[in-house]
Amino acid sequence: MKKITLALAAVAGLAATGAQAQGYPTRPITMIVPFAAGGPTDVIARIVTDNMSRTLGQQIVIENVAGAGGTTGITRAAQAQADGYTIMMGHMGTHGAAPALYPNLKYDPTKDFAPIGLAAGTPIVIVAKKDFPATDLKGFLDHMKANGEKVNMAHAGVGSVSHSTGIFFNSVIKAKPTMVAYRGTGPALNDLMANTVDFMTDQIVNVAPQIQGGNIKAFAIATRERSPVLPNVPTTKEAGLEGYEVSAWNAVFAPKGTPPDVVKKLSDALMKSLDDENTKKRLLELGGVIPTGAERTPEALQKLVESEVARWTPVLKAAGATAE
Ligand code: ASP
Repeated sequence: MKKITLALAAVAGLAATGAQAQGYPTRPITMIVPFAAGGPTDVIARIVTDNMSRTLGQQIVIENVAGAGGTTGITRAAQAQADGYTIMMGHMGTHGAAPALYPNLKYDPTKDFAPIGLAAGTPIVIVAKKDFPATDLKGFLDHMKANGEKVNMAHAGVGSVSHSTGIFFNSVIKAKPTMVAYRGTGPALNDLMANTVDFMTDQIVNVAPQIQGGNIKAFAIATRERSPVLPNVPTTKEAGLEGYEVSAWNAVFAPKGTPPDVVKKLSDALMKSLDDENTKKRLLELGGVIPTGAERTPEALQKLVESEVARWTPVLKAAGATAE
């Protein structure tokens, strides 16, 4: 008798999950962005979810949960119910650099998520306040040598993209500026424009409009080729700096255990969004790089996360970086 009841309960349970996934989504979805509003991750999240919401027939509501270089928001999202109603925008920092910097990180980027897909590649640009006393990368490096820790470098918290690419940059140029943490590079950019902090290494989508508008300076872009949106900004190599080529990325994840058909719906919606003319235009205008079809799949994202953790761990350890 007991066995039968259990078996029936199991069938009923299955039917309930099946029905739930089939009708998914029946209510708004929350996307956790682990940084302040207005920064690169937030901007990319808003651009790609616009079209995704339309495809899914439900709104995707952005919730900014900033702190600890993005690991606070990602920890919360990883522990949310795996029903497709809480997803997140992670990136090269939260899912690549963080394990090397937080010995007690509450999640494993390679194991605790159901990858949905890559949203955008984001080249790194070396930017400074408008009043910075240098006009090119060479002058900037000379200034760094002469002024050391009197120079302030902004970043979005230990393990963020700006922090890890910044630590790497400082190790390449052998400088030790004073590090100033923000809850995202959105607020850091505001201080850069107000001339109250000196420089940072940030994702192009955040800084391109202010470089174009002449509100901040750009010394170099850390990619092999120049960006079409910043044709006058030299690559690091062109500007005379070898060994600093680095790009970041932002990607959508769900908590581990999210039903496969829900993952598929989300991933199909993301792929469709990346093919939408308006989404593409908005990302490209900011210098974002649109992933190819093959790069957009959940499987490709899983591989990317694994290779990024493997790539960043030795780089950050060699740079002597530690949390706090
Ligand atoms: N992506 C972060 C933000 O949106 C910044 C960072 O990781 O550096 O503010």
